Amino acid sequence: MKFVSTRGRTGPHAFSEAVAAGLAPDGGLFVPEAMPDLSQRWKRWSGLGYPELCAEFLSFFATDIPQEELRAMCRSAVAKFDVPDIAPLRALDGGVSVLELFHGPTLAFKDFALQFLGLLYERQCRLRNEKLAVLGATSGDTGAAAIHGLLGKARASIFILYPDGRISPLQERQMACTGAANVHALAVDGSFDDAQAALKALFGDREFASRHKLSAVNSINLARILAQCVYYLYAWIRIPDAVRSDVEFVVPTGNFGNVLSGWMLREMGVPIPGFRVATNRNDILYRLITRGDYSVAKVEPSHAPSMDIQVASNFERFLYFTSGRDAARVRDVLGRFAQEKSFDFGSRGFPGVTASRADDSEIEAIIRDVHRRFDCLIDPHTACGFKDLATDRHSVVLATAHPAKFPDVILKATGRESRHPALEALKSLPVVKHHLPADPAAIRDYIAKHAG
Ligand SMILES: *Cc1c(COP(=O)(O)O)cnc(C)c1O
Repeated sequence: MKFVSTRGRTGPHAFSEAVAAGLAPDGGLFVPEAMPDLSQRWKRWSGLGYPELCAEFLSFFATDIPQEELRAMCRSAVAKFDVPDIAPLRALDGGVSVLELFHGPTLAFKDFALQFLGLLYERQCRLRNEKLAVLGATSGDTGAAAIHGLLGKARASIFILYPDGRISPLQERQMACTGAANVHALAVDGSFDDAQAALKALFGDREFASRHKLSAVNSINLARILAQCVYYLYAWIRIPDAVRSDVEFVVPTGNFGNVLSGWMLREMGVPIPGFRVATNRNDILYRLITRGDYSVAKVEPSHAPSMDIQVASNFERFLYFTSGRDAARVRDVLGRFAQEKSFDFGSRGFPGVTASRADDSEIEAIIRDVHRRFDCLIDPHTACGFKDLATDRHSVVLATAHPAKFPDVILKATGRESRHPALEALKSLPVVKHHLPADPAAIRDYIAKHAG
């Protein structure tokens, strides 16, 4: 299997090459050049455990990794999850189930992709006999998940920039209390945008970036999208036959990465009837899907910070597939969008995709209501998924983070404390962070000194 770019101006890449590159050289995103046909095959996978299913699925794509090795990687990728079935599907009542994606090391669904990506990076370093420095800027969850994907890996170091004092104390502890020598939590003065600007300057310094083999943590890596397909498949196989034809997967959405993974499975012939894109008050995707209005608004902070996004980078892949793999159309739409910050897709909608939007007061009300009705605590991101649940079909809401990551909102909404032993344990560990000005030169010096 080869991978091509959504912008059509990059030659086909093998899986490992596309993963190592991240972004395609023409500025587009990598996609499989053809989708495998899983329409009959998924039925034969019903007896498989999570890592076995993962290896079966990924073997269609990672064709340049030997089967045995891929199997071992799929086992390692979930070895640090805290439940044996990795992604439990929990029925709340006849009409609603929750797919719990928060059992990984940082208690958020991003662990599925980043544990696997960490292993791919490690393999790449070993095969090429080189070192790698992974660099990212985070306003929360992604940084922690990336750090835990690379924790203690030989030959790889990771540097995560975040705005000092502006992420939650627990999120900071997930990054700064690992005790691992290859992990660098860099608390930068200023806002997230300042950290992001410094990061851009570092990648812009070509000589520096290539000397230290700098690689970006971001949500567009092909491996992330493919690794996430597996939990949809795993859930799909477990949904009772009688309800399968009526199921809608409801996905709390920011960058469109998570929901895109599920949607791609349908393109592979897994007959999932519907998807719901659930946004918070930052609702560009809600407006897109309900009325074709893809126009940027200001990002507003919310109770669901990992969804505080306006321009959803993975939307480019969706655009590519829904336009019939028309790269010229992708270039045209994105070019116009870059200039005008707006694009009108018309009101035809996207078949099988619905949307909802929840603001902060609705998030609190939903957390309270779900707790009262089902005796179940949900995090603020997951709460967006419970907005306007369909009454005529079965909803599988993806629970993207553990509620204990957001104790303040949970307490306010329900009066209950939400705890998790992994987070409690962090509270007694020393915080090891490095405070730096948001000055590319200072950050560059730090990386040069510590990248090995
Ligand atoms: C990242 C994140 C999301 C949004 O996922 P996308 O793939 O960006 O759409 C939702 N919930 C949580 C908890 C997250 O960390």
